[in-house]
Amino acid sequence: MRLAVRRRRGQLDSSLMSKGIVYLVGAGPGEPGLVTFRARELIESADVLVYDYLAHPELLKWRRADCEVHYVGKKSGFHAMPQDQIETLLIEKADEGKRVVRLKGGDPFVFGRGGEEARTLAEQGIPFEVVPGVTAALAAGAYAGIPLTHRNTNSAVVFLTGHEDPGKKLLVDWRAYGKLRNTTLAIYMGMGHLAEILRELVAGGLAPDTPAAAVQWASLGRQRSVTGTAADLAERVAQSGLSSPAIVFVGESVARRSAIDWFEHLPLFGRRVVITRTRDQNSELRDKLEAFGAEVIELPLITVAKDVDRHALVEILAELGGYDWIVFTSANGVRFFFEEFFKGFDDVRSLGLLRFACVGRATAREIERHHLKVECMPASATGESLADALIATGSLDSAKVIVVTGNLNRAALVKKLEDARAIVDRLPLYKTEKTNLADDPVADDFRRKGADAILFASSSAAQSFAGQAGALKLAPDARRPLAGSIGGHTSATMRETGMPVDFEAKTASLDALVEALIERLKG
Ligand code: SAH
Repeated sequence: MRLAVRRRRGQLDSSLMSKGIVYLVGAGPGEPGLVTFRARELIESADVLVYDYLAHPELLKWRRADCEVHYVGKKSGFHAMPQDQIETLLIEKADEGKRVVRLKGGDPFVFGRGGEEARTLAEQGIPFEVVPGVTAALAAGAYAGIPLTHRNTNSAVVFLTGHEDPGKKLLVDWRAYGKLRNTTLAIYMGMGHLAEILRELVAGGLAPDTPAAAVQWASLGRQRSVTGTAADLAERVAQSGLSSPAIVFVGESVARRSAIDWFEHLPLFGRRVVITRTRDQNSELRDKLEAFGAEVIELPLITVAKDVDRHALVEILAELGGYDWIVFTSANGVRFFFEEFFKGFDDVRSLGLLRFACVGRATAREIERHHLKVECMPASATGESLADALIATGSLDSAKVIVVTGNLNRAALVKKLEDARAIVDRLPLYKTEKTNLADDPVADDFRRKGADAILFASSSAAQSFAGQAGALKLAPDARRPLAGSIGGHTSATMRETGMPVDFEAKTASLDALVEALIERLKG
């Protein structure tokens, strides 16, 4: 059975496919970029997702719209769903023929009870696959600047669990581990018994001045760490208020940290920054913020759905050869246009001599996927700059232009082109709607914890945020975010909707917006 399951999809025989399958998938330590390609691929195609509190809400966004989700959250001392019920759930769903993805923090086979789940599945004859993940100790080492091995001082690493029912004796023979030399101990779930564990290690022979550290929420913007020695770490941790989930390191290599602690020194480290998913340029803004160490929360305020004006489409496609330019203001527009185009034509040359103009880089990338060249793109990604850039080509007089739109139909852009004597036909292909945020996991994270700042990179982003304010009410103890704007236009909209403008970019660019944020949070 296991062997059959190991084959790639597509090679599975039909009886296995109809039986359903469970994937025990390592969700990594937190930061979504640290999951494997395989994990992402499986989340994207899952029928059922089963996850707990260590899985980042961002991962859930990759799921299909019709994917069934089950939170089986576990925190120490609190089990939202007991282990046997989790296993029953996995079996039931697989028996229904579903592709079930069981996301487990870190690696499924490192202190994650993945072994037990796999065993139950095997006993029940349910096909399954295990996908490894970056385990917390590796992430904590990398992100806290603690190399787990070092040529001169540490030639072994031991993963240990400090977990034990409160009140019971520790299971691990800590004194024995205290005798090891040249070893880095990486202790999972050790915070509850930290003082006792360290005492036992020292009683076993560990030098009390051995460097030690605790790293909480490794790889995430809220990572925190405390360093000390085997003798004083427990006290320092207690003073700092650091708690679970954390990895405790004990060993000489911890002392190397001060020189290579890169992550916690980034200017936006520890900051939660909200951006709103209303424009194509978001991933660019996200990348810039994450490069400075921020934890980025991308609120999905707007959902884009295909909504084709058939009448306009048929007329335009019939006359395609007669147009000079086609103008796109979003990557979605490009995607939907080509979907419709290829329904009618099977050769890209049916586009004739149509020239392509688009608003910004993300839209351009979508056009270039079809090996078509973008001939006009403005320096700043706004509809108006796009119109100006087109006018500057000097080719608009009597030119026939298609403007692909959504239900916000780009009146200003169209008017500018018409003023430059272009003959413009609109092609509405999609509509943008408010996302239902009531049970959205990212919105929920925001409502519960708040953020340090929220960035608006366009007027429409500010408008959609204001439009969803009711669904985004913060909990009483959540952090209230400062509001930042990319420029005058956006600031005006923010004020109109009753929002304060706490900072504004010096020039209308994403870089300047991030810079303004860093400046503001410093002060
Ligand atoms: N299978 C997981 C471990 C689950 S046990 C893995 O491979 O990482 C849960 C423990 O993992 C927590 O108590 C904590 O010790 C550790 N842990 C998980 N995520 C962590 C993180 N982001 N930072 C620090 N420790 C983490």
